[in-house]
Amino acid sequence: MSLDLASAPPTPPPDAENGSWLACIECGETHAPFDAIRYRCDDCDGLLEVRYADLPTFEDFSGRGVWRYADALPLEAGVTISEGDTPLYRAPRLESDIGVETLRIKHEGMNPTGSFKDRGMTVGVAVARELGVDRLACASTGNTSAALAAYGSRAGVETLVLLPAGKVAAGKVAQASLHGARILEVDGNFDACLDVVQSLAAGGEAYLLNSLNPFRLEGQKTIGLEILEGFRADDGAHPDRIVLPVGNAGNTAALYKAFRELVQAGALAVDEVPKLTGVQAAGAAPMVEAVENGADAVRRWDDVETRATAIRIGNPVNAPKALPGIRETGGTAVAVADEEITTAQRDLASEGIGVEPASAASVAGLRKLRADGVVGADERVACLTTGHLLKDPDAAAAAGRDPEPVSAAVDDVLAHLESTE
Ligand SMILES: *Cc1c(COP(=O)(O)O)cnc(C)c1O
Ligand SMILES: [Zn+2]
Repeated sequence: MSLDLASAPPTPPPDAENGSWLACIECGETHAPFDAIRYRCDDCDGLLEVRYADLPTFEDFSGRGVWRYADALPLEAGVTISEGDTPLYRAPRLESDIGVETLRIKHEGMNPTGSFKDRGMTVGVAVARELGVDRLACASTGNTSAALAAYGSRAGVETLVLLPAGKVAAGKVAQASLHGARILEVDGNFDACLDVVQSLAAGGEAYLLNSLNPFRLEGQKTIGLEILEGFRADDGAHPDRIVLPVGNAGNTAALYKAFRELVQAGALAVDEVPKLTGVQAAGAAPMVEAVENGADAVRRWDDVETRATAIRIGNPVNAPKALPGIRETGGTAVAVADEEITTAQRDLASEGIGVEPASAASVAGLRKLRADGVVGADERVACLTTGHLLKDPDAAAAAGRDPEPVSAAVDDVLAHLESTE
C-alpha cells in the first residue's frame, strides 16, 4: 500500500505541475494540483495527498519558519505572517518527574495566532489564491477559525467560519471576530459543522480549509521537520517518540508524511522515524478505539465531551492517513481523563509553558504511557503542545490559583500574606 513507511518514491504522472500533483491514497488516481478545486478523489471519494517528483533532504532547507521548507511544499512562497520556528523547550522537572531520558516541548502556541493551524493556513490560503477563489470557509473547534480569519484577511479574501455554539473558547472567537470573519454559530457539534461546510464547498459556495484539504497538511509537515532539526542541533539524535493531541488527526497524518518523505529521499532511516503517539480525551476517543481494536477505520462517535474543546471531535477525517502512521512508526494511541489533562496543564505552567487544555493532553498521555510501561525510561520524547494558554482563559483561570481580594493598604496586605499561603 502507498502509505507504507518504506514505499518507493512515487513516479510523476503526466499531469504533474512544477513537480507536484495530487494522488488518492485509496485508488492512486492522480490530478494536476491547481487545475480545479478538489478535496477528495473523483473516482472513489478517498482522501487526497500532495506528491512530489523530487523530495528534499535536510541540506536543501534554508531560511526561517515554514518557508524554510519550501522544497518540501507545493509552492515557493505563501501568504505569510511569520509562522513556524516555534520553541523546542526543555522541561527538566517534568522530564525527571515523568521519568524519561529527554523531554522536549514543541510549543506550537507560539505561532502568530497561537496555534499550529497557522502552518497549514500559510500554504492553504496561498493555494486558494492560486485557484482564484473568492470565499474561504472552515468548520472549527476554534483555532482553525482564528487562523483562517487572520490569513484570509492577510490575503484580502472573505472568510466564513462555522463554530459549534457555546463550545468554542473565548480567545478563539475573539480572534476570528476581530480579523473580520463571518462567524456562524451552529446549533450542533464540530462534526455537524464540518458536514455543513463540506456541503457548502461541494456546491462551490466556498473553498474548504479544514484539514481535509491536502495542502494544509503540507504546511503542518514542517512541525515534524523542525522537531527533527531541533533535536539534531541540540542533542545530535532524533527523538524516539513524538506525542501529540489528536482531533481530526491532521497533524498525525502530516508528521507521518514528513517522515515518510524523508525516508523516500534517503535522508532518514526507517528505524530513525519517531514513534507517533496520539492522545485523545476519554470523552472523544474514536482514534484510540480504532488503534486498540487494530481497525483500519474509525467508528464515528456521535456524542463527544471534554473540556479540551479543541479536540472535541467524534469523526476524525484524516484517520485513513493517520492510522497507517501510528502503525508504521510503531506508535500507539491513548485516552486521558479531563482531570489528567488539567494536571498536565498545571505541570507545564509550573515550568513556564502556558498551553490550552487540548495541548496538555500530550503530556498527560505521556505520563500515562510511561506509568503503564509502554514508554521506556530511556526514551527521548517530544511532546507537541498545540495551542497557547490565552486561547482558553476560562480553563486557565479554573485550573489556576484564585485571586485574593485585599484592601489598598500595606498593613492589610501584609496581614493577609501572613494569615494565608
Ligand atoms: C486543531 C487542534 C488540535 C487537533 O489537531 P488535529 O490535527 O485535528 O488532530 C489539537 N490541539 C489544538 C490546540 C488544536 O487547535
Ligand atoms: Zn480514489
